Amino acid sequence: MGKVIILPETSEKPITLIGSRAGYCWGADVSDNEKNYKRGLDCIESNHGRTLEYVNVEMVLDGYSARVIREWYTHIGGAPTRLQASTRYINYADFEYVTPKKIEANPEAKAIYDSIMEKISEVGRELEALGIPREDSAMILPLGMTTKIVDRRNLRNLIDMSRQRMCTRAYWEYRELFSDICKALSEYSEEWKQIIDSQMMPKCELLGYCPERYCCGRKPKKNQE
Ligand SMILES: Cc1cc2nc3c(=O)[nH]c(=O)nc-3n(C[C@H](O)[C@H](O)[C@H](O)COP(=O)(O)OP(=O)(O)OC[C@H]3O[C@@H](n4cnc5c(N)ncnc54)[C@H](O)[C@@H]3O)c2cc1C
Repeated sequence: MGKVIILPETSEKPITLIGSRAGYCWGADVSDNEKNYKRGLDCIESNHGRTLEYVNVEMVLDGYSARVIREWYTHIGGAPTRLQASTRYINYADFEYVTPKKIEANPEAKAIYDSIMEKISEVGRELEALGIPREDSAMILPLGMTTKIVDRRNLRNLIDMSRQRMCTRAYWEYRELFSDICKALSEYSEEWKQIIDSQMMPKCELLGYCPERYCCGRKPKKNQE
């Protein structure tokens, strides 16, 4: 089970922050936070996307698979940044890994899955005993192993990500990861809860139809409307 930690550099008042930044451009009184909040809400509702870029989310994603983090890295809009746990300096001889629910529920499949993970650990230890440096033995590590990243990206990127990754057809671990992030942000502050509840949705909810070639049936395909 992965864990999301929202770091204190993340503003607890993202809507007020958006309104304050927009206020400078409108010659408004930015010292009044009540007005900033109302202006921020208006920017969000009016789809003034650039204003969302003043809100950064800094977080630690810990215990998700290297595979889902590889997908996470495809969201590059707004030049997010991140640090990732080293595969050179950390000892991965006894790495942890994610077990998909369908494998967890099938004892025979789980035994096979666990055995290959154990075998990889064993080979890692053997290579280390032969003096092979970790940066080389790390080549055998599986995508299912867990990793940790420290991530920073703006709200616009995160909202855009929800369109792709809350899609029923997105990879299940990503959907879980995204739901964990929404939960962590909702608990972080009331303004965040408001943003999560109103802005995070799959693209079909926004469009009213499904643009994917293979549709889950939640919304009609465009030509079936
Ligand atoms: C069902 C499903 C299957 C998928 N399968 C795969 C797969 O097989 N392989 C794979 O790699 N990904 C896959 N994806 C992920 C997806 O295709 C995108 O790679 C991912 O969502 C990140 O790209 P993005 O455009 O959504 O986000 P970002 O890169 O964060 O971009 C967000 C927005 O910013 C703007 N933008 C970003 N970069 C530029 C730029 N250079 N120039 C101009 N505008 C820019 C665009 O408006 C863009 O829509 C899948 C997703 C789903 C839901």
